[in-house]
Amino acid sequence: MESIINEFLDLVKQRNGNEPEFLQAVEEVAETVIPYIVKHDIYYKKNILLRMVEPERVVTFRVCWVDDTGEIQVNRGYRIQMNSAIGPYKGGLRFHPTVNMSILKFLAFEQVFKNSLTTLPMGGGKGGSDFDPKGKSDNEIMRFCHAFMSELFRHIGHNTDVPAGDIGVGAREIGFLFGMYKKISNGFTGVLTGKGMSWGGSLIRPEATGYGTVYFAENMLNTRNDSIEGKNVVISGSGNVAQYAAEKVIQLGGKVLTLSDSSGYIYDADGIDLDKLRFVMHLKNVKRERINEYLNKYANAKYIKGKTPWEIKCDIALPCATQNELNENDADTLLKNGCICVSEGANMPSTKGAIEAFHKAKILFAPGKASNAGGVATSGLEMTQNSLRFNWTREEVDLKLKEIMSNIHDSCIDYGKEEDGYIDYVKGANIAGFVKVADAMLAQGIV
Ligand code: NDP
Repeated sequence: MESIINEFLDLVKQRNGNEPEFLQAVEEVAETVIPYIVKHDIYYKKNILLRMVEPERVVTFRVCWVDDTGEIQVNRGYRIQMNSAIGPYKGGLRFHPTVNMSILKFLAFEQVFKNSLTTLPMGGGKGGSDFDPKGKSDNEIMRFCHAFMSELFRHIGHNTDVPAGDIGVGAREIGFLFGMYKKISNGFTGVLTGKGMSWGGSLIRPEATGYGTVYFAENMLNTRNDSIEGKNVVISGSGNVAQYAAEKVIQLGGKVLTLSDSSGYIYDADGIDLDKLRFVMHLKNVKRERINEYLNKYANAKYIKGKTPWEIKCDIALPCATQNELNENDADTLLKNGCICVSEGANMPSTKGAIEAFHKAKILFAPGKASNAGGVATSGLEMTQNSLRFNWTREEVDLKLKEIMSNIHDSCIDYGKEEDGYIDYVKGANIAGFVKVADAMLAQGIV
């Protein structure tokens, strides 16, 4: 088996040698899915996985815009249309200086499996730009978003490709992107998700990724007759996913000890309650300041510069910032401190070594493609509401989100339960996500 996996990975490396994040994502999938494929001739003979690692289409384009000083700026835009076997391409746009082909291909590849797991009819895609929104004025953000969409529009559409937000792309950016799409296409369609409520958005979409990550953690804990109530929870990030993960943990009776950004983390031993979280939301979403400002209001808290929060003793860890933010050493520290559950809000935040350590210790570990799928699932619900020209209530959407997360959890058990009863959620999510897409590809022939 090992030689079959290595032969496959060598081929992918030859073609994508300078894309480390993409190779990391493919390796994780190959190690769990290839043994399954080998046992099922129907997939093995049709080279399905090799077809899945090659994007159906990659678009890169120039984005020129004028900053507030009158200087002309040039950025690079991307859209990876990875797989459309089960529905229109669907996946976020990321605006961050680290954005490159490797990062977007890893995200698009993960998205294919994640979208399949939701059971909704969505293919996988991802896009973005190396544009850095930090420190830019609202007018600069608007000019950049308009310039970006003035090219992207010709590659997307509500039946073709439906982007959403990701790092650096929130409600403000989706508004500017949608405005330009509507103007150029002369049509009001559900071409983007994460829209505002008065112009086609869905209730619970902003909350969905964070809430879903916590619902998934609760589902995992329930398999051990446990729950979030009374648990100490360490969260990284302080953006969209982290904020709503924190809110749901607090609502379920857990204690949130940390939040972070790329400069460091805050540790509040008294717990970040709902009032403190409102302050963080205002700080990050309205004032757009750094997380260390928390101490100006809550002086008892500590700010630890340049570090990640995994050194704080906790029961549950929710990495909600970015890829590879939790390595093997961090995993060892978490385990030594008694952590029993890790649910990924971010995409691929744990390194391969960290995942191996969690599996070895047999703690509950959920990969992002399963545990953070609530965001795209609710985007799928937004698309449905757009088609119906109808809005469900908050309670209705939240109930559907909970059901979807629970169904994803069940799928992971179906394909990931080991002989000793341990649930390997990585294996479960990869195989369950693979089967649906692979079957659709088989049915559609060699295209
Ligand atoms: P936001 O832009 O709202 O927030 C990102 C947070 O992560 C910020 O606190 C940011 O800090 C921090 N961060 C970004 N880069 C780094 C880094 N290199 N090191 C440390 N911290 C970093 O993004 P989201 O909350 O939307 O996304 C967070 C993660 O969740 C990403 O992995 C994304 O792909 C994933 N995700 C998001 C979904 C969504 O619906 N939004 C859906 C599914 C997954 P700083 O301000 O300093 O950059």
